[in-house]
Amino acid sequence: MDKKDELISIVLPVFNEEAGIEKTIDVLEKFTISQSQNFELIFVDDGSSDQSARLITTSQEYHQNIKLIQFSRNFGHQLAITAGIRYAAGDAVVVMDADLQDPPSVIVEMVNKWHEGYQVVYGKRVSRNGESWFKKGSAALFYRTLEKITSIKIPLDTGDFRLIDRQVVRELSQMDEPDPFVRGMVSWVGFKQTDVAYERQERITGYSKYPLSKMVKLAMDGVTSFSSLPLQFANWFGSLSIVFSVGYLIFCTFTKLDAIRFAIFAIFLMVGLVLSALGMIGAYLFRIFEASRKRPLYIVAKTSGFHRTKSHQIP
Ligand code: UDP
Ligand code: MG
Repeated sequence: MDKKDELISIVLPVFNEEAGIEKTIDVLEKFTISQSQNFELIFVDDGSSDQSARLITTSQEYHQNIKLIQFSRNFGHQLAITAGIRYAAGDAVVVMDADLQDPPSVIVEMVNKWHEGYQVVYGKRVSRNGESWFKKGSAALFYRTLEKITSIKIPLDTGDFRLIDRQVVRELSQMDEPDPFVRGMVSWVGFKQTDVAYERQERITGYSKYPLSKMVKLAMDGVTSFSSLPLQFANWFGSLSIVFSVGYLIFCTFTKLDAIRFAIFAIFLMVGLVLSALGMIGAYLFRIFEASRKRPLYIVAKTSGFHRTKSHQIP
């Protein structure tokens, strides 16, 4: 396909980014004009309570290629990405943060790899400027642990900044998973994948919309959707505690020494183990429960700008 016939969709999840959204639009519009392909920018407003949506709508007056999907409330980063990918009409879809932490220039390298035949090109962070040691440390630990305990290969140190070919988009759109962990799903679908290294920049303005609670949820979704190891842990702990209790019973029949202290210790140990096992089982049961409810993954309140491309497809 000739470059000028190609359409590349850029999907940008937005949650309360009023401080920097105009700058992001400006930088991306300048970038897309400098390229020979066609670009569409799909902003997914994930229930922002600030002026983000209004600012994007205003920019649509000046830029023909800006599209906006507005959620009815905050459904979370991963569902915003999911919706954006589904609405994208491009031959390839790029997902990136709306805070310019992922530099647009890297898209050129991703597109080059795509032209070489790769169907997924993910951005691999070689450095992360302006992020706290806690965020860097917890992310490094999380990705390394995830690699050890999952059966699929989720590349280390990658976020959701990546290019995905239309064929992969089609497969991803078939996956109606509640609580999706998009980067895991992209690895799971397979196809020819590669990476480009980049330096993650500081946020242009504002603060991270990923508080600890959202990071923990993302980590739990990653683990529970791609690994059953924690569930096996529960089993191992369960078996171990049975073995221990039998041993303890035998021990007590031979000696009465410190029985009370031991009993207290044993009770605490058992309660701890049972609770942690139950907790893990609960996490999986909750996923089954959610899947069985057949709720829509997200609710789109409104869309705009989509009529302007000929080839758009709205699922
Ligand atoms: N985001 C979102 N919904 C949320 C949280 C974040 O759509 O509930 C967006 C946010 O506006 C940004 C991207 O997802 O464009 C990544 O979030 P953020 O930059 O805050 O995360 P960080 O880069 O600090 O990990
Ligand atoms: Mg960010």
